[in-house]
Amino acid sequence: MKKLYLLLPILLLLSVTACQVKQNTDNSTADTTEQTQKEWAIALHGGAGYVSKDMPEERKQAYMESLDEALAIGSEVLKNGGSALDAVEQTVNYLEDNELFNAGKGAVFTAEGKNELDASIMDGSTKNAGAITGVTTVKNPISLARKVMTDSKHVFFAADGAETFADETDVERVERSYFHTDHRYEAWQEANKQSGSLPLTDEQKSWKYGTVGCVALDKNGKLAAGTSTGGMTNKMYGRVGDVPIIGSGTYANDLVAVSSTGWGEKIMLSVSAHTLASYMEFKDTSLQASMDYLVDDVLEPGDAGFIAVDKYGNFSMKTNTGSMFRAAANSTGEKSIGIWEEE
Ligand code: ASP
Repeated sequence: MKKLYLLLPILLLLSVTACQVKQNTDNSTADTTEQTQKEWAIALHGGAGYVSKDMPEERKQAYMESLDEALAIGSEVLKNGGSALDAVEQTVNYLEDNELFNAGKGAVFTAEGKNELDASIMDGSTKNAGAITGVTTVKNPISLARKVMTDSKHVFFAADGAETFADETDVERVERSYFHTDHRYEAWQEANKQSGSLPLTDEQKSWKYGTVGCVALDKNGKLAAGTSTGGMTNKMYGRVGDVPIIGSGTYANDLVAVSSTGWGEKIMLSVSAHTLASYMEFKDTSLQASMDYLVDDVLEPGDAGFIAVDKYGNFSMKTNTGSMFRAAANSTGEKSIGIWEEE
């Protein structure tokens, strides 16, 4: 009997150790690249769509250079120990000021011939977020979204309310005419001629989409995501897309940061950014497997594209629309810039 008392704790210890070995073995089957911690990482997009491969070389160069410059801005912030939130805001600000992209200057026109802007930002470390929709005089909507997150007790302001909130901040304001660009105006007129004929042709889809976004991991291990857009060409009065909806267009937690682009209605209906994060967490799987699940299984071909960075500094960028202006880099020197799906 005495011997049994002695044996019991030993048996218990042995079984606990066996369990731990089993767990370690299970973990080791996971993608090991996932476990290599990078100091920082960043990914950005300038919109998913149906850009023709016959795009004039000069225009292609202009996009590639802009993506490279945007990437350099965010990377510099992160390299110097800046926060993921600053990297996201400054990168998106650059893209908002760049006419090539459908956000800030360069935003598309609504059915009523206006430019109405949406944006959101999320801090993965606090899970706090800020969003605005339907603003017409804010030069950099992502900066106003950040102020909503940090300087208000709310998460989301719409239209007149967002403008009133902006009055109480120091964000830069502009005349509505600032957002007018000839190429978007012409695209809107073209859209007007063709509206009503569904399904959309590739040509029509190409002027309907576009948006900018950025996701980042900083040296303190914090993740952030932000997205900014003019929405979809010819959108109806008061239409709100996925971009300012936390969990659809933008999401970040302590595991992953995601930004979406594409057909907003489809992205909203699948709560896309949050779906990727949940899949990754609950399946305990890699960033790439979660991205594949979202793009290939949840959404339909032609719907949308996404960028994401995980807590290890892995990045993933994938679209099912044919093209997505995108760029990414991390502290190990990995860098990627592309436009078309199969690059
Ligand atoms: N998702 C945006 C929207 O529906 C458009 C885009 O990303 O191109 O407003």
